[in-house]
Amino acid sequence: MQYPSLALYINGEFLRDNARDQQDILNPADGSVLGQLPHASTSDLDMALQAAAQAFKTWRHSSPMERSAILRKVAQLSRERAQEIGRNITLDQGKPLAEAVGEVAACADHADWHAEECRRIYGRVIPARDPAVRQWVVREPIGVCAAFTPWNFPYNQAIRKICAAIGAGCTIILKGPEDSPSAVMAIAQAFHDAGLPPGVLNIVWGVPATVSEHLIRSPIVRKVSFTGSVPVGKHLASLAGAHMKPITMELGGHSPVIVCADADIDRAAQQLARFKVRNAGQVCVSPTRFYIQEQAYPRFLQRFTEVLSSIRVGDGLQADTQMGPLAHARRVPAMQTFVDNARELGGKIVLGGEPLARSGNFFAPTILTDIPDDALIMTEEPFGPIAPLTTFNDLDEVIQRANSLPFGLSSYVFTNNLQHAHRLSSELESGMVNINHFGSGLPETPFGGIKDSGIGSEGGSETFDGYLTTKFVTQI
Ligand code: NAD
Repeated sequence: MQYPSLALYINGEFLRDNARDQQDILNPADGSVLGQLPHASTSDLDMALQAAAQAFKTWRHSSPMERSAILRKVAQLSRERAQEIGRNITLDQGKPLAEAVGEVAACADHADWHAEECRRIYGRVIPARDPAVRQWVVREPIGVCAAFTPWNFPYNQAIRKICAAIGAGCTIILKGPEDSPSAVMAIAQAFHDAGLPPGVLNIVWGVPATVSEHLIRSPIVRKVSFTGSVPVGKHLASLAGAHMKPITMELGGHSPVIVCADADIDRAAQQLARFKVRNAGQVCVSPTRFYIQEQAYPRFLQRFTEVLSSIRVGDGLQADTQMGPLAHARRVPAMQTFVDNARELGGKIVLGGEPLARSGNFFAPTILTDIPDDALIMTEEPFGPIAPLTTFNDLDEVIQRANSLPFGLSSYVFTNNLQHAHRLSSELESGMVNINHFGSGLPETPFGGIKDSGIGSEGGSETFDGYLTTKFVTQI
């Protein structure tokens, strides 16, 4: 099956020279080699830094109309190419084709949102004490940005950072996910075809730690943005902090789900089971700790198990597949560790609990019950298709347990009691609270976590905040 040729993209050129170090790209559904990805050398990274610095001199003064037109064109190209890009995401990341195509189509909306909002980056006038004085505030692009994006939503996570940087008038060097690179390649092609000037967007690949250290330490880079795991985020944040560089961090979570007995239990169980297997659970806002009120537990468990056991797992390119493989071989033993630990602590495996007996990185949708709150699965982000279920008695207790971890990304509440909804939305320590549905991640709404789950928001009217500085001017 045809897979796109992979390249670096520096100063408006796709660099495909075979002399660079290369890495094999594998299909997670069967382990076959799809292609080779060139790694950037140190001089490639320096070339990208110089290109971004040079381009910033002009791009920072570009008209918002020009930026808006390019972002709109990228939105249009994303829509037109969604089928082909989605197919390649399924090949190198594993998610079902409909999810992959849906991701690209949704990203067209992200590009459109940034195209609209970048024309509204306003300053303000502050009335002066002295009538002879004029004083005003402007927001200016911060400069060259370095961004690092992961493999679970490879189009989404990259395009949101790129649109925010470029829309604000910054230039950017992005290191995409080496294991699933086709989506970021397609983004570079779309911006290239949309007429983005050379050097405004640069794409590099390599050994993540080597590339990120080189870029973050460079005095050319003025801003660091990362999506990925908490430990790597903390490491990059400390590197950026040592050089006084602002950060946007979208990190992992361990999202509590609170199902009150007064909720529509069948509906909650069905929706949660389907949401749980989205992208095989490799979603930072995936529901990962299920707290079910005692009286509703038997009914919830029954319905949840029925739906989860009916999920068709397979190659994402097959039309009837509802859940694909895990993106990497390393995630399969990671899932097994969670299950083994739960079993050792007296937990029950109601469903799944093991890899599927076939080639590829497949792990069965899994339900664990009777697990203590200090089990690994209740304290560390699973990032896979495992749902641990436990019970609670009252809201005081469940709020304390839900807030007990250092994470604070997303949380889910199912209740038909207005007071419960208000109290939980106010007291849950998370950047996003979803009540009776799943509604985060839209272009017009802010996406981000608190506590260890991150700093800053992407999307919404906050989307440019991390890419702008505030300048005060006073004149007499
Ligand atoms: P990992 O911690 O090795 O890597 C996570 C991501 O960070 C990857 O994209 C990787 O390329 C990148 N990375 C790693 N070290 C880096 C460095 N020094 N500089 C720059 N980038 C670096 O873990 P993994 O096995 O790839 O993924 C598993 C864990 O990562 C999950 O358990 C989950 O917590 C987290 N994760 C979170 C998100 C998210 O959307 N927040 C996405 C992907 C992975």
